[in-house]
Amino acid sequence: MPIRELDILAPAKVNLFLSVLGKRPDGYHDLISVMQKIDLVDQLHLCLEGSGISLSCPSSVIPEDSRNLVWQAARLFFDRTGINDNVSITLRKMIPVAAGLGGGSSDAAATLSGLNTLCAAGLSTEELLCMAARLGADVPFFVADMPTALVTGIGTELQSITGPRGYWLVLVNPGLAVSTRWVYENLLLTSEANPYKLRGYSDLSEYAASLLGDDFAVGDGDHALYNDLESVTVKKHPVIQTIKEQLLADGAFAALMSGSGSTVFGLFRHLDVAEKSRASFRKLYQDVFLVTPLT
Ligand code: ATP
Repeated sequence: MPIRELDILAPAKVNLFLSVLGKRPDGYHDLISVMQKIDLVDQLHLCLEGSGISLSCPSSVIPEDSRNLVWQAARLFFDRTGINDNVSITLRKMIPVAAGLGGGSSDAAATLSGLNTLCAAGLSTEELLCMAARLGADVPFFVADMPTALVTGIGTELQSITGPRGYWLVLVNPGLAVSTRWVYENLLLTSEANPYKLRGYSDLSEYAASLLGDDFAVGDGDHALYNDLESVTVKKHPVIQTIKEQLLADGAFAALMSGSGSTVFGLFRHLDVAEKSRASFRKLYQDVFLVTPLT
């Protein structure tokens, strides 16, 4: 009997580094980023039944129709393969929405990979990556079997790197949905686009390797963590800066906003210190998580 149901996990990501290099004529931005998958996951259940694509997202406010990236991924998969589109999908969101954690992109990637397995479609990773890029710039990273990647171009060129190890992340989402589009639109006006963190490194691979140093140290007590989008989002939502400062005061050795925000993460060497920080943020915000990087 062929399998008819599949459970699949869709992990979130943080950007350990994000520098926007410029805007292209087609409106996309060229960037350099180090993306790290983490063990905060959405859960998807796929079942081949009924007719058409049906999607339910219990206890979540996100749309359950063609506006959902999961629905769009399923539509693309069935259109490309010519397989009958009979699937019902349940998506249980754990990853905060519009939070800079790539939740929607990861859900879309999990849908493509899951349907490929469930329908025994035999699409190659290359084919899946191509479909992923059509759904969004961050989707290929989640299709690729890479816990950590150096990401270039508009986000679709991936190079697997060995990520840093031995740390915990405390994620704090202040409950502000931030539009990625708004942040990029405002970047040109306010950007202090500043790739200074690459100073002293002859190329990106060398820079990426430096992330593996003790405590992400770049030198002069400086850290390799950097995000060009942070200043844009902080101007609109100063609470992001406050959270960063509190994470550092709690003992994080570095703290940064992820993607276009609004989630801020602090990196901790010691679990007990991280747990204390999580507990104090839990009194203030609902979406606070203590997670590890996927390796
Ligand atoms: P990124 O870090 O890639 O910019 P994000 O984490 O900031 O992404 P998402 O959570 O992926 O943002 O959602 C952004 C928008 O996409 C929201 O407005 C949401 O309504 C819509 N969306 C569509 N499908 C999904 C999904 N499966 N999960 C979450 N949001 C979705």
